[in-house]
Amino acid sequence: MKHESASPVIRVLDQATVNKIAAGEVVERPASVVKELVENAIDAGARSIRIEVLSSRTDITSVRVTDDGAGMSPADALLAFTPHATSKIAGITDLDTIRTMGFRGEALASIAAVSRVTLITRPNNDDLAAGTRIVIAGGDVIEDVPVGAPGGTSVLVEDLFYNTPARKKFQKTRNTELAHIHDMLEGIFLANPPIAFRLSVNGSELVVTDKSPSSLDTITRIFGTAVVRDLVPVTGSGPLLKITGHISRPSLSRKDHARIFISINGRYVSSPAITNAIKEGYGTLLPKDRFPVAFLSLEIETGLVDVNVHPTKKLVRISREPEITKAVCDAIRNALSSHDLIPDIRSPGPARATVITTDAVLPEHSRPYEYSSIQPGVVSEPTHAGTTATDRQLRQTELAPEPVPAGSLPPLRVIGEFGGIYILATTETGELLVIDQHAAHERILYELAGRKDGKEKRVQELIAPVILHRTPRESAILADLLPALAEEGFHIEEFGRDTFVVRAIPVVLGKLEDTSLLEDIISDLTSAERGQRVDNRERITRIVACRGAIKAGTVCTQEQCQRVADQLRLTKNPFTCPHGRPTMVRFSKVDLDGMFKRS
Ligand code: ADP
Ligand code: MG
Repeated sequence: MKHESASPVIRVLDQATVNKIAAGEVVERPASVVKELVENAIDAGARSIRIEVLSSRTDITSVRVTDDGAGMSPADALLAFTPHATSKIAGITDLDTIRTMGFRGEALASIAAVSRVTLITRPNNDDLAAGTRIVIAGGDVIEDVPVGAPGGTSVLVEDLFYNTPARKKFQKTRNTELAHIHDMLEGIFLANPPIAFRLSVNGSELVVTDKSPSSLDTITRIFGTAVVRDLVPVTGSGPLLKITGHISRPSLSRKDHARIFISINGRYVSSPAITNAIKEGYGTLLPKDRFPVAFLSLEIETGLVDVNVHPTKKLVRISREPEITKAVCDAIRNALSSHDLIPDIRSPGPARATVITTDAVLPEHSRPYEYSSIQPGVVSEPTHAGTTATDRQLRQTELAPEPVPAGSLPPLRVIGEFGGIYILATTETGELLVIDQHAAHERILYELAGRKDGKEKRVQELIAPVILHRTPRESAILADLLPALAEEGFHIEEFGRDTFVVRAIPVVLGKLEDTSLLEDIISDLTSAERGQRVDNRERITRIVACRGAIKAGTVCTQEQCQRVADQLRLTKNPFTCPHGRPTMVRFSKVDLDGMFKRS
């Protein structure tokens, strides 16, 4: 269609509209406002930073960040709100050496475009300098007056998104927004140990960190001593980078990577490549679907890190990434092989200093082990029939010794068992280990079943084939799994409608006393998966290990316990079961002395 008039269709937008649009990129939600303000405080060289958040029942109503950093002169204070006004770079080449969090000069202008901002600031290096108070609402300066103020800066943001209803509507519930603020700040706090931070929500203090040269103090403040006890230090360096930090022993793992904190040159970032490298460094020490807890700080030549790829700078682009990820992976591997990985007995310690997030670090581990029938207080004696059955089970699972990897278990001497669940053992160095017999045997079976030593899986033909009937739904799933099952040593064929015949099973399952074991395995396989997906063979291996292992509640003789302990030493990762739960805890003499107030 032809235009009727000559007036142009394309318009240049006015500055206020431009600012509002730009604000959409930098300030997506309340957490991004907090992030920008805190990063400005860090850039201003603050040593202590206070973050105060107020909320109504439904919304975050205000955010204030107060710092003791450099502060601003009256002229700079006004300029700070001009788009693309920054004191941090002068031109594009400066980006190659940038060390500050900000550099775009967009944040304050963007925030002021979509809220009401009150800035109070005074230069810190000059006792005679005047303080300034500026109020801006929707981008318009409403007040600009001299005031008395302490050195440093405070920025109060209210009525966020009052003039951008669409964005306001996008805000999730108050609790979700608070959780975002909290998670984002955790990353910043961890990346800046020398700064003392305080976060309060509606007047109650949630996280307080001290000025400390060590990130371990900050980790303790945020996650508690229980987590810190399960960490080992990491250091590494190469021509391009320096790595420091802490990572968890395999006994502390999670189903996601939400507790992997990475900072690059002091900036908290998310980097899938480095997260992968960390995971890879654990090798077989962690199940495929488990992630460690890690706090890593990387110092990389600034020219190799491009922070200007994402409006919020959360993602960075790293040049020579393969060399960098390899260095990270090596550092993790070294840390794990040069430290003792047996988990210490966890003292309750102070709780995590937070009430916002519901997902604390520990619940998965502190969840009580499920076991069947133990009666505490009853002195259990192994029965004769039980003993022979257990003997048979254990005989099937002799692991041929492989070269013992560094960092493995010292020789263990079994001194007894407890409740048909726990094996008590001592080490040469006089420590007491409590071993979960089911978890330990599960680990042994898992590694045995998973060994890919080129040979055929050890398979036993059943004297009488077993017939299984399943529901149509289960049959469909089972039919799909048959090839994977065959590779794991189950020879199963379809045998008419919804019926299968089992001709052979893996040797590690021992002698098939009754068919319920098979029924259970098939039920496990056909039931819905929980958590992250792992491939079918991995699932089958885990189920076989779990179902084949000595049950909790089976009382073992001392000799049998010793066998489990000896076999466990030959596994690649004796510290966790295939699901990532610990197989043992340690009580050192010091721990026990402490408990008995002997020290
Ligand atoms: P950027 O951080 O990208 O430079 P901002 O819009 O966040 O852009 O801030 C603009 C400028 O305002 C900064 O470059 C800095 O000079 C000044 N500024 C902002 N916040 C503070 C603060 N808390 N203390 C001192 N100066 C600040
Ligand atoms: Mg900034």
